[in-house]
Amino acid sequence: MATVEQAQTTIAVENPATGEIIREVPVTNDVAAMVARARAAQSAWEALGFEGRARILKRARQWLLEHADEVVATIVAETGKAEEDARLVELAYGANSFGFWAAKAPKYLGDEKVHTGNPFVLGRKLVVRYRPVGVVGVIGPWNYPLVNSVGDAIPAMAAGNAVVVKPSEVTPLTSLLIEEGLRAAGLPDGIYQTAIGAGDVGEALIDAVDMVMFTGSTRTGRRVMERAARTLTPVSLELGGKDPMIVLADADVERAANAAVYYSMQNGGQTCISIERVYVEAPIYDEFVDKVAAKVAKLRQGPPAGPGSIDVGAITFPPQLEIVQRHVQQARDAGARVLAGGKQREGAGRFFEPTVLADVDHSMTAMTEETFGPTLPVMKVADADEAIRLANDSPYGLAASVFTKDVARGEAIASRIQAGAVCVNDAAINYLALELPMGGWKESGLGVRHGAAGIRKYTRSQALLVTRFAPKREIHFFPYSARVTKLLDRGVKLWYGRNPRRGSSAP
Ligand code: NDP
Repeated sequence: MATVEQAQTTIAVENPATGEIIREVPVTNDVAAMVARARAAQSAWEALGFEGRARILKRARQWLLEHADEVVATIVAETGKAEEDARLVELAYGANSFGFWAAKAPKYLGDEKVHTGNPFVLGRKLVVRYRPVGVVGVIGPWNYPLVNSVGDAIPAMAAGNAVVVKPSEVTPLTSLLIEEGLRAAGLPDGIYQTAIGAGDVGEALIDAVDMVMFTGSTRTGRRVMERAARTLTPVSLELGGKDPMIVLADADVERAANAAVYYSMQNGGQTCISIERVYVEAPIYDEFVDKVAAKVAKLRQGPPAGPGSIDVGAITFPPQLEIVQRHVQQARDAGARVLAGGKQREGAGRFFEPTVLADVDHSMTAMTEETFGPTLPVMKVADADEAIRLANDSPYGLAASVFTKDVARGEAIASRIQAGAVCVNDAAINYLALELPMGGWKESGLGVRHGAAGIRKYTRSQALLVTRFAPKREIHFFPYSARVTKLLDRGVKLWYGRNPRRGSSAP
């Protein structure tokens, strides 16, 4: 594991799949100075405009693709994930993201002309502008060091901000490598910097920046928001989840079973939008459970050794192993059947066996708390109404999925589920469509990443009103007079009272 040594001067980064120490990195001891450097560099970056910034972001994408093997090796080494989870998820997301935000920033952030129906303002030019906030602090978790730390920095930079990224102390190497790549691509000094350290470094960052993008647990998310409140710094939070999957009796059971296994075990189940619990209608419950148990039993696990070598990687964060163990043990003690896996894997590295739990219910933490590991708990339900009620019986609301051949019914069920994203006959891949906003409801977060709102959050809107042709004195200027007031009052009543299009109840 990553340990902080000698009064927090260095962090030893461990490979969770082997237990080896990969590298020691120095802790950042002056976050405020780093943010000051970012602030000094930001205005020239903003002045480059969308085109100038896009040129550099596209060169960064080129660098990423040319250095794909090195980036993938770094991600795999510090997380212990399967090569596919690094190459096909993280690297591909990064390549998409650099190009997407370079191309879309002008569309999402270009000046917007608006018109007003208010007669007092008629004739003026009205514009909404999106100006960068200045310096964005990105605080990231350990499960996706490229997607969830670097990935959030890309739209922030495309919007004209400087960024300081604080990756998890467990996985700092990817962000440091991307910093090198961005420099090679011509990014000016100070626009992307990596602050290394634990929660105290995160707190110092919150104190100094103009906006915080945080991904991690709900518990830490609350602390981040409390801290940011001291300086009235805006926050965007993507927090925990307990994503439900509903399988209706008319679903393609084979596809549903394959999807359940993949989206619960991919990245070792350490994905914010992993399938964390499954509700299956009674008529197909036994068939579904048999299928997922057989498929999970065949999954290969161990230290990754290149493409196709394993399916399910390591548990990246040491305390996570205890959480997974506790949830499985509690379910077992309360009567759940363990149909595959169920315990820590023996041998080197930190692994938990891919696990299927059947006959679970909401008295078990495996169904109510975020497990964040390779587990698939499956519960039998009488009908869709019961499945929806149970899906919504959670403090979380990140994402959900519904499997049915009747897609119209699937869409109707989606609109009854309390979650920021719902897939019908799929799961999680909505995250790859950067055009779609992605954010949690309830205790799963605040704000979104992706889509127009996912870049506008890195800006402040500025309302611009320009009066070009105007009299020396407007009718409502001082001095007030009874005659003018009466005239204007009559005008207001006529304007709003007689015209039904202005929301009046007039005839
Ligand atoms: P945390 O939420 O604790 O950590 C996320 C980031 O916040 C890390 O960089 C962490 O630093 C930093 N941090 C910790 N304390 C503070 C603070 N007071 N102020 C500012 N930043 C802080 O998540 P963990 O990584 O510890 O994981 C805990 C749980 O969160 C998991 O069990 C899982 O359930 C959930 N999780 C959810 C994710 C998601 O994508 N929704 C991703 C990862 C985890 P450092 O780690 O270096 O101490």
